Amino acid sequence: MPGSKAIRVVLMGPPGCGKGTQGKMLEAHYSVPQLSTGDMLRAALRNETPVGLKAKQYMDRGELVPDEVIIGIMRERLASQDCKKGYLLDGFPRTVAQAEALDKLLEQSGTKLMAAVNLDVPDEEVVKRLSGRRQCRVCGTGFHVVFKKPVREGRCDACGGELYQRDDDNETTVRSRLSVYNKQTAPLLDYYASRGLLLRVPGTGDIDNIFKQICSLIDDKANSGRS
Ligand code: AMP
Repeated sequence: MPGSKAIRVVLMGPPGCGKGTQGKMLEAHYSVPQLSTGDMLRAALRNETPVGLKAKQYMDRGELVPDEVIIGIMRERLASQDCKKGYLLDGFPRTVAQAEALDKLLEQSGTKLMAAVNLDVPDEEVVKRLSGRRQCRVCGTGFHVVFKKPVREGRCDACGGELYQRDDDNETTVRSRLSVYNKQTAPLLDYYASRGLLLRVPGTGDIDNIFKQICSLIDDKANSGRS
């Protein structure tokens, strides 16, 4: 198990790189919440809140929701009690402005990030993965029509819920999400590398093996002299 340092980790990488899957596994392993801005926005949309309705137009086009909306959501979420012992950020920050806002929030709470873990996956693999991706409407578990078929077609193995394809997982929107990622989010690799926080892991291959590599890097950080 890790040392006494709080696990405050950013999970990065292109859409479909496995951040969500690895985030869920890491959440169970380290007992800190996985905070997915995409999940929060989809929940806001389901509940038809003003934020959800505003976000929809951007999400449908594969574009980023404006920084001030996302920063507002995360400012509130990170102040919650369950984040006191750490968290795994999945899908945030996605722009340099968001990373700077996160740094400010960390500073204000007297805390520090432990690491930014990037899952490297080539663009064509992203398109293949996302266009076959399916998700459970009830518990959010992910499946894939080729790589991770459910036992019963269209039904979740975990809870029996209905599987659906996200609106933004069609090939056209996936390609625009990728280009948005390359333009607006990839610069964060340098941002975190220059702060000595970046850890890179190949996001292809066996899921459990990727998980082990991430845990080993996080545990090294947790046990090292750095904070
Ligand atoms: P995800 O589930 O992380 O792939 O996010 C789905 C969509 O939600 C993205 O394509 C964006 O439109 C929006 N989104 C999620 N997180 C952010 C963020 N940090 N900044 C801006 N938009 C976001």
